[in-house]
Amino acid sequence: MDCLFCKIIAGEIPSTKVYEDENVFAFKDINPIAPVHYLFIPKKHISGAAAVNAENADVVGKIFTAIAKVAADEKIESGFRVITNNGEDAGQTVPHLHFHLLAGTKMGWSPETGV
Ligand code: 5GP
Ligand code: ZN
Repeated sequence: MDCLFCKIIAGEIPSTKVYEDENVFAFKDINPIAPVHYLFIPKKHISGAAAVNAENADVVGKIFTAIAKVAADEKIESGFRVITNNGEDAGQTVPHLHFHLLAGTKMGWSPETGV
């Protein structure tokens, strides 16, 4: 499949890994918008949040479990944000479900300005 994040999981495109288990892969965003900016993705391809369903939803809990573990390891529990963009109008540029983990700065709250 011609999917950028599937290629990153397969190691065909290099990335800086921050977490991996049987179902979940996480790596540093190539264009960070906060001091901590990681992407958490399911190893099995799902095109986005709109494609989550009863059959594949388990991995979303596994991703959030991984996020909590990484947040504890990085000592960012006091302030982090998790975002998923779905669809063009929301700014999704890679059609493989991913959750942005942002931290390390005081964040505003505006979908227009982001952090
Ligand atoms: P989206 O805009 O779809 O919510 O998020 C996609 C994210 O993937 C962006 O923040 C972008 O910087 C990141 N990204 C795109 N291509 C690559 C890549 O080749 N490597 C890494 N590490 N991140 C990427
Ligand atoms: Zn994919």
